[in-house]
Amino acid sequence: MVNVTVIGSSSMDFVVTTRVRPGVGETVMGESFKVVPGGKGANQAVAAARLGANVSMIGCVGDDYYGQVILDNFEKNGVVTRNVKPVTGVPSGTAHIMITDGDNNIVVVKGANNHVTPATIEKALEVIQTSDIVLIQHEIPMETVEYVSQMCEKYGVPLLLNPAPAAPLSEDILSRVTFLTPNEHEAAELFKEKHLSEVLKHYPNKLFITEGKNGVRYFNGNEEVVVPAYPVEAVDTTGAGDTFNAAFAVALAEGKETIEALKFANRAASLSVTKFGAQGGMPKREQLEEYLN
Ligand code: ADP
Repeated sequence: MVNVTVIGSSSMDFVVTTRVRPGVGETVMGESFKVVPGGKGANQAVAAARLGANVSMIGCVGDDYYGQVILDNFEKNGVVTRNVKPVTGVPSGTAHIMITDGDNNIVVVKGANNHVTPATIEKALEVIQTSDIVLIQHEIPMETVEYVSQMCEKYGVPLLLNPAPAAPLSEDILSRVTFLTPNEHEAAELFKEKHLSEVLKHYPNKLFITEGKNGVRYFNGNEEVVVPAYPVEAVDTTGAGDTFNAAFAVALAEGKETIEALKFANRAASLSVTKFGAQGGMPKREQLEEYLN
């Protein structure tokens, strides 16, 4: 089993669907309500564990009821929570999502995810040192991303940064990460460049731009390559990127070649969009192997 460490956010998602979006000061009746675990860090940790990796999560939860729900969900999925710390007097991270006709409005309250600081990471350096790969995103403070990039460089551990949501990245961080996986919107924000092909050329075998149902694009040193996704009936694409990143990390940690790792990631992510919820559709290794045939 490969060792994957995920450093990032964990949240509860409160999802309502409504036919009519309320205006300012207005109250409307909604149709449905669900509470599901989310947060990009937690999603990626759960996806990697389902794909058969030995996953350690480094993060924070609040000292509220939802903190326990988040921890229970990790345990149910086999994610090691020794380094998921409860923070006193702070709520767990939450996302409040309103879906109207397939469009959504989202309010995120970072809560405990703001407390995933370099000091939190310092207490878990041993886990990083013994990892085959580290996976991180942007839903925690940027100084933590910076610190983790330094530590991974120091210990020679590959670092996969999923720069979501988009935020400016220093040249230092960019140079230290091993793999960078924005979706096309994040790539456009990050590089402020119209021609992403030009950007790809600057980061051969390092920058991988995911493009939804079209798959993923990168420059292999000689030419630009598109690795297509799989044609599926998409039910809910929430968390597609999270499954992609987790699967890519697991495959790389297992020593697969880049192109094989990308095919594996596309398969896992394509399969994940056929079911509701970010974590709901994340496949187990056996399901994926069946799907591979
Ligand atoms: P994000 O979820 O971060 O916005 P993308 O939308 O680019 O990221 O999706 C990530 C990956 O998920 C894609 O590269 C692809 O493998 C898979 N995927 C997303 N949407 C679909 C879809 N409609 N059909 C098949 N695969 C999809």
